[in-house]
Amino acid sequence: MDFDLPDIRENVPLKNFTTWKIGGNARLFIEAKSAEVPKILSWANSNGIKAHILGAGSNVLIKDSGIDGLVVRLKDGVSSVKISEKTAFAPAGVRLAQFVNFLAKNGISGFEFLAGIPGTIGGAAFMNAGIGGENKREISDVFDGGILCNLKGEVFEVGADFMEFSHRHSVLHHSSHVLLSAKFRLEEKSSPEEILKKIRKTAKERAAREPKNRKNAGSVFKACGGVPAGLLIDRAGLKGCKIGAAQISRVHANWIENLGGATSSDVEALIKFAKEKVFEKFGVLLEEEVRILG
Ligand SMILES: Cc1cc2nc3c(=O)[nH]c(=O)nc-3n(C[C@H](O)[C@H](O)[C@H](O)COP(=O)(O)OP(=O)(O)OC[C@H]3O[C@@H](n4cnc5c(N)ncnc54)[C@H](O)[C@@H]3O)c2cc1C
Repeated sequence: MDFDLPDIRENVPLKNFTTWKIGGNARLFIEAKSAEVPKILSWANSNGIKAHILGAGSNVLIKDSGIDGLVVRLKDGVSSVKISEKTAFAPAGVRLAQFVNFLAKNGISGFEFLAGIPGTIGGAAFMNAGIGGENKREISDVFDGGILCNLKGEVFEVGADFMEFSHRHSVLHHSSHVLLSAKFRLEEKSSPEEILKKIRKTAKERAAREPKNRKNAGSVFKACGGVPAGLLIDRAGLKGCKIGAAQISRVHANWIENLGGATSSDVEALIKFAKEKVFEKFGVLLEEEVRILG
């Protein structure tokens, strides 16, 4: 292969890289640092290979037929995060939990809401990840700009406006741009002990309300006009419904659990079923939050 980056692998099972533990093979697969992405995309583009970006795989359903192209899984260490007085720069492949802990140790607060979300900076920006309810906060509240590249590997810098953030949505949903790194506004300070205490408290509260089965992708549907999708699914009597080895969680109606060996067809069928039943009962058409790839 005319490619000087290491470890390009063939026919790699993607289920090993998603929290649902579901998904067929990637024809080509590479784990890379964000800084390597432009070169990889430029190579893929000039060889007519379609490239797809994966973060921590915590918001994707990858089809059983897999991905007939190149999957680039972003992985950056937290040591590559740079902070100054008012700004943090983080590569897209840094895990949110590591980022938030790093800021906490430096006495920077205001990012604790991201701590329990098992994604990367890139996936969180793509999704405008955050928390709802009374303390609603999204990554768009702290995002101040980013470095992106296109599928040809051309790199450019953008401000926060470019991202067109809205509820679990950004401009990246309908463009093929890849976020390489993000710039964040640092506005709040506190003692590291206080921030870490807050993070631990949030983690405990999450653990109490989330299913114990970790093979899931969090919320499957977006909130609908402010109404939590889980409430509608619960009221439609769908908790515990099962197709194959996929089940609408008995703990949290907006989550689908892989009971072991579930296929993407099982999950897709359950998604379709839940949408039909909620529409029949409430006239509301649920919209998927999870991204279906392949
Ligand atoms: C247990 C659990 C709890 C969760 N709780 C929450 C929550 O509280 N709030 C919330 O908002 N979400 C939550 N999620 C969903 C998920 O963690 C978030 O959406 C997260 O931000 C996804 O990040 P990721 O790195 O895993 O993205 P992935 O799942 O890997 O990718 C998601 C999408 O982003 C694209 N993408 C990834 N990186 C980039 C990049 N650098 N540039 C361009 N596109 C990119 C991918 O192509 C894909 O389309 C939860 C999930 C789980 C499993």
